[in-house]
Amino acid sequence: MTITRIAPSPTGFLHLGTARTALFNYLFAKKKGGKMYLRIEDTDKERSKKVFEDDIIAGLKFLGIKWDGVVVRQTDRLLIYKKYIDELGKNGFTYELDGAIWLKVSAVKTKDKIEFIDTIRGKICFPKAKIKDFVIVTSKKMPLFLLTNVIDDYEMKITDVIRGEDHISNTPRQILIQMALKLPALRYAHIPLILAPDKSKMSKRAGAVSLLEYRKQGFLAESMVNMLGLLGFHPKEEKEILDLSELITEFDLKRVQRAGAIFNQDKLLSINAWYIRNMGQSELAERISSFDGKIKVHKKYLTILKDRFKTLADYQAESKFLHTLPDYSAELLVFKKSTLKDSLNGLKLIKENLAEKDASFWADEKNIREALQEIVDNNDLSNGDVFWSSRVALSGLANSPQPSEIAWALGKEESLTRIKKAIGKL
Ligand code: GLU
Repeated sequence: MTITRIAPSPTGFLHLGTARTALFNYLFAKKKGGKMYLRIEDTDKERSKKVFEDDIIAGLKFLGIKWDGVVVRQTDRLLIYKKYIDELGKNGFTYELDGAIWLKVSAVKTKDKIEFIDTIRGKICFPKAKIKDFVIVTSKKMPLFLLTNVIDDYEMKITDVIRGEDHISNTPRQILIQMALKLPALRYAHIPLILAPDKSKMSKRAGAVSLLEYRKQGFLAESMVNMLGLLGFHPKEEKEILDLSELITEFDLKRVQRAGAIFNQDKLLSINAWYIRNMGQSELAERISSFDGKIKVHKKYLTILKDRFKTLADYQAESKFLHTLPDYSAELLVFKKSTLKDSLNGLKLIKENLAEKDASFWADEKNIREALQEIVDNNDLSNGDVFWSSRVALSGLANSPQPSEIAWALGKEESLTRIKKAIGKL
């Protein structure tokens, strides 16, 4: 059975890089009907923090990346490592220096080169002569990552190691440990780093923040998964929208690129906007409410606004004008190719026409749209005289949904109040 793992060190928040590594491990394992474990590599006691571990776990849960079994924590397994450390010592592979235990590279019988096949990058060779002895247990008696990682991969029956390319240089040293302990070799795939759009390293501004920051900004889990899945991986057909189950079907390590993967915030926004646009109305309302408990979502407002949203946070900003009419100038009511007289005339006709209409007329946005069009057609007025002026009258904004949509969402009374107010301004 295929068994992978995500093995974060809790020395920082779950950032995009680790989240993407977790996702690739998950996709790879699930495609093969296998398992993925979560192992917290916390033997660096000074740098490991509970808040980071909590953040990593919460981030994976948010994404819906479900690991198999319980969370494995390396500091719970020190006795297991001790057994292997003793064995290395007994067989002459280690020595002590300044209280630390070192692995003696020359004691491991190998060829001149340490080689392995990386599924993404092909054959990788390191001259053994370049590998210096290295510490496997600190003077404080803490086993280090290079060692514990190898032992746990063996103990947990991991078959495939999928991790960031920053670990390539660790691999030959880990292979030496495996050889000294007579452990089976593993398959490796080192995935490309994530880069900012200008190909520089990710910075705080460009994505190097906790994944949960994105949730706070109103990004959906499905958009994050979709975006992460395409960071360095390209499905067979050019597709931009793939959910978790489609990613599982499509995923293939052989289609992971070697070059750095560019993270593009605009692409993430457009993916997020797509998921919002294509989400059922009540589901979206629920998501917005759970995103911000203080917000009461108005169904009609949502209907006319949702195509404009890029994130869940946009509901509040975009719906402001519906709750309270913003201040606007009389000039704004007059379309640039129109005159004050025609705009005023248009608004008056709208007021008279709409004031007579009953509830069944107001229940359908199409009726309002047609009524406005008839006013244009029957009165020698331009679209701008009617549609522009009424849009500004109803929203107070130069950029907003269609006037018929706003009127439908506001209802008869409020719409007429706003139109009268505009007439008063001209
Ligand atoms: N603890 C290592 C890290 O956080 C894991 C390396 C690996 O996946 O083997 O980068």
